[in-house]
Amino acid sequence: MDRIELKALGKINLGLDVLGKRENGYHDVRMVMQTVYLYDQITIKKRKKPGIGLETNLYYLPVNENNLAYRAAKLLKDEFHIEEGVSIRLEKHIPVAAGMAGGSSNAAAVLFGMNRMFGLGLTAEELMERGVLLGADVPYCIMRGTVLAEGIGEILTPLSPMPKCYVLLAKPPVAVSTKLVYEKLDSQEIKIHPDIDAIIEGLKEKSLSKIAASMGNVLENVTIEEYPVIEEIKNIMKRAGALNAMMSGSGPTVFGIFDDKEPARAAAQKIKDTQLAKQVYVVNVHNAGRK
Ligand code: ATP
Repeated sequence: MDRIELKALGKINLGLDVLGKRENGYHDVRMVMQTVYLYDQITIKKRKKPGIGLETNLYYLPVNENNLAYRAAKLLKDEFHIEEGVSIRLEKHIPVAAGMAGGSSNAAAVLFGMNRMFGLGLTAEELMERGVLLGADVPYCIMRGTVLAEGIGEILTPLSPMPKCYVLLAKPPVAVSTKLVYEKLDSQEIKIHPDIDAIIEGLKEKSLSKIAASMGNVLENVTIEEYPVIEEIKNIMKRAGALNAMMSGSGPTVFGIFDDKEPARAAAQKIKDTQLAKQVYVVNVHNAGRK
């Protein structure tokens, strides 16, 4: 096998709670993660020249060790003494620095693809053990689907799959630093914790309305304080018929859950018309895992 094409899917958080902070600065979290069908297209090719070549359609992304896709390839090349060179092409569609784990998902796809291309024989679990060295969300991006993530995000328990629905994603044109959001959260007292268990029950009962009603993200207020546009987009989605709308991860991407496609599309158009966000997509949830 000389070439492999992969889809690196993004995620949303149906729930995000922070339980505490470790001495090393990492946070203990309790999150319900959901893969969505918005993806970066990744092609990995073997090449004669040794080393790792990386190119992407976004000029502002690093194409060296600062890119998580590069780091993922390097990790496996070093460990398994792979002399042959690889070139990686990243076609980005997942909004960058947006709370959708785009970089982590790229790293997960490269680990998965290199394992296959070079016949390394690593199991999904063994890939996840390596993935966490690259980032807390990478193991989840290898697993995919509807998952409870605990610890720093690497302790994963698959949940009942999210019922079929339409997810409206809108990323306002502001850059959010995950690190700064967590720092700001640390300086405050968390008054309201989302009911993560209620989301899990809703999933078990296959009740989209219960899941939507129980959604919560402890980081939301921190980011909204700085970027009120997030609240504005949420309100448009809710008024347009979303069962609920919330910020994903540390933001600024906002998602709305719809049980019907038409209102989701209409809301997407409304958001584009207001120009509050340019990156706007209606997608399905993805529960099929990895082939
Ligand atoms: P969050 O952790 O809040 O979910 P995110 O995962 O959406 O954020 P990324 O899109 O992964 O954030 O990008 C965060 C930063 O990481 C970017 O500023 C970018 O420079 C860097 N980065 C490294 N590798 C990648 C990659 N493959 N794709 C996108 N960004 C990358």
